[in-house]
Amino acid sequence: MDSTLPKPISNADSQPYWQGARENKLLIRKCNACGQVHFMPRHVCPTCWSDDLQWIEASGKGTVHSYTIIRRASDPRFAHLVPYVVVLVDLQEGPRMMANVLGENALKTKIGDALTLVFEDRGDGDQLPQFQRVEV
Ligand SMILES: [Zn+2]
Repeated sequence: MDSTLPKPISNADSQPYWQGARENKLLIRKCNACGQVHFMPRHVCPTCWSDDLQWIEASGKGTVHSYTIIRRASDPRFAHLVPYVVVLVDLQEGPRMMANVLGENALKTKIGDALTLVFEDRGDGDQLPQFQRVEV
C-alpha cells in the first residue's frame, strides 16, 4: 500500500462501485431499458436516459484501446511512480475505462494487448481497479 496516493472519493452514483472495489469486484452499470452497459457509474443511461439501471460484475478482462507513458507527474503525489502507464481499457462487456497498467512489464504495453483486472490497495480497505498485461 502506498499511503501517498489519493484515496477514492465516492458520491451517490459511485458508492456501490467503490464498495464493490473494496470487495475485489469491478461493478459496472447495465440499463434495463435498452441493455446498454456503461462506465463511468451514473444515475441515468447515457444512451436512452432511463434511470432503470442495474449493477453487474465485469469479468475483469479487457484490451488496450490506447495508452500513454507518464514520465513527468503533474501531481507530486505520483512523482515517485514515474514512468507509469495510463491506459484506456476496452472491457469485454463493452465500456471503455481509464486505469493504470501495473506490474514489472507495464512499460511494454501496446495497443491491443490483453489485460486483466487487479486491485491496488489504497489503505483502510479502499481498493482501486487497475490492470496488468496478460503475457501470451
Ligand atoms: Zn438505456
